[in-house]
Amino acid sequence: TRVLLTGGSGFIAAHTLDILLKRGHSVVTTVRTQQKADKIKSAYQSYAEKGQLGFSIVPDIAQEGAFDKAVVSDPPFEAVLHTASPFHFNVTDVKKDLLDPAIIGTTGILKSIKKSAPSVKQVVITSSFAAIVNPDKGFWPGHVYTEEDWNPITQEQAVENPMNGYRASKTFAEKAAWDFLEQEKPNFTVSTINPPMVFGPIIHNLDTLDNINTSNQRLVFAAQGKFKDEIPPTGVYLWVDVRDVALAHILAFEKPEAANKRFFTLAGYFSNKEIASLIKKNFPQYKDLPGDSTPGGDYPEGGKDGIYKFSNKQSIDVLGLKYKTLEESVVDSIKSFQGVG
Ligand code: NDP
Repeated sequence: TRVLLTGGSGFIAAHTLDILLKRGHSVVTTVRTQQKADKIKSAYQSYAEKGQLGFSIVPDIAQEGAFDKAVVSDPPFEAVLHTASPFHFNVTDVKKDLLDPAIIGTTGILKSIKKSAPSVKQVVITSSFAAIVNPDKGFWPGHVYTEEDWNPITQEQAVENPMNGYRASKTFAEKAAWDFLEQEKPNFTVSTINPPMVFGPIIHNLDTLDNINTSNQRLVFAAQGKFKDEIPPTGVYLWVDVRDVALAHILAFEKPEAANKRFFTLAGYFSNKEIASLIKKNFPQYKDLPGDSTPGGDYPEGGKDGIYKFSNKQSIDVLGLKYKTLEESVVDSIKSFQGVG
């Protein structure tokens, strides 16, 4: 299949690109600069040489019409995977830095496809558990989160702080996509991938661990000894491996039955305490890891029973995903960090 992948320089997108190429798909990926394109190209030289990998520069997805040129190609695209969206909390202006790129990025690419790429039959969008979770309910132990749930966050709450801003950016962007489908009745289907905290090895270009992607940050901090005296609160207790999330994006367009569905892709529960103890067990060379008596980072009272439940059944039944274990994900992540200068 001829595929357009947005944000190819990102943590999840790098794995998506890798699997796409290895499964024989022909890919153009958007990146913000030529330098980023060159870095990816040098890692996939043989694919680029045989014309299976190309690049398109889209500096800012928040600009109206940003994707107008990128969606046009010869041979034409059949599927579009939209992953590019800001995921960090280092923002001064929530609207400009988080909401606009997420929402305008999503509606913008859908408009460009409808206008200029009639051959596109499927669009897969990276949404998030952030668009599912209801943060006001806290641990909500009686509840089972599924694809039926929506974060009820409002426009007012969205701009209160960067955490709300990120969650709102994912919620509003995904809603805008489903609204577009209903109102515009385009020639394509939409599927969304809604992962919680994504861990896993980094295969994108990274000069220093100081620039680690947001969701892997806690693994880096634990390995660096920052949890030694006190483990920070876990926050979100659900996780998934990046390779499973990446594969979900591809299965979502390869399998016709995945059309027009959300996929809550997750492996299970984790706590910061479990992560630290898995690193300690597998990497005895790291000395500054917390011990059993170190405070913080644990499940709430009642353990896992004290937290919301979840169902990943749709992702298993429809996509056929088999989820990696936390130990495998943590071990492979830490090994990948050791390769960064
Ligand atoms: P990364 O930060 O590694 O990737 C984000 C990507 O989006 C990068 O390629 C980045 O480009 C691009 N991007 C951000 N803002 C813009 C912009 N204004 N214009 C053009 N490109 C932009 O994070 P992830 O790989 O983790 O995130 C990928 C997607 O997955 C996002 O949609 C995120 O919301 C979603 N997600 C991630 C989860 C996680 O735990 N990691 C969980 C749930 C959802 P550049 O690097 O050049 O800035």
